[in-house]
Amino acid sequence: MLRAPRKAADCTLADVQFPNVRFLLSVAGAEQFPNEYGREVAFAGRSNAGKSSAINAIVQRNGLARTSKTPGRTRLLNFFELEPGKRIVDLPGYGYATAPPPERKQWTELINSLPEREFLVGLFLIIDIRRGLRDEDLQLVFWAVSAGWQVHALLAKADKLNQRERSSALKDAEAQLPEGVTAQIFSAHDGIGVEPAQKRLLGMLSS
Ligand code: GDP
Repeated sequence: MLRAPRKAADCTLADVQFPNVRFLLSVAGAEQFPNEYGREVAFAGRSNAGKSSAINAIVQRNGLARTSKTPGRTRLLNFFELEPGKRIVDLPGYGYATAPPPERKQWTELINSLPEREFLVGLFLIIDIRRGLRDEDLQLVFWAVSAGWQVHALLAKADKLNQRERSSALKDAEAQLPEGVTAQIFSAHDGIGVEPAQKRLLGMLSS
């Protein structure tokens, strides 16, 4: 369950970190990126890792980022504005083992175009806590670090593991991640780690 009240009528503005969050646009390539001032943090992860659910939990808006089951949107980059000058960019999910070659190529091209975008300052990487960091995830982390971005990993679906297993998964992830990259456990379903994730995101967007 999310920490946020489910209906707008149940909450005061002070309860909500991003009361004016809104979907901005979907783009298929770098040439369509919005040309607005500010800072952006990208959200990435393997398909089905829990990225859309994590975005919705962090911005406290159910249904804002569409889950993998929604056809169409998943291959595009989706921009959301948290408040003027602060945006998140939802990247298409990746899964190199199953994706057909043209899709992999498109994903790689999109990703390669991102460092040229001056507004991007950080990456939230969503990992299914039961699967841990895979080669593709680590490649993305090292790539983002070399682009000069801050990186934060969410070990999502933590509600699927017990306390001891969660700690052990976090330790394993931290041992694999390069220095300076942070990680935490997270569950969109149980609201675990939502507040620290919001703080880390705001830190990236404000620094
Ligand atoms: P995406 O493909 O990475 O955007 O992942 P989604 O957010 O669409 O989630 C994929 C599946 O995992 C869906 O069936 C979700 O209900 C489930 N899921 C996402 N977050 C959680 C979570 O925190 N806990 C549990 N148990 N399942 C989750």
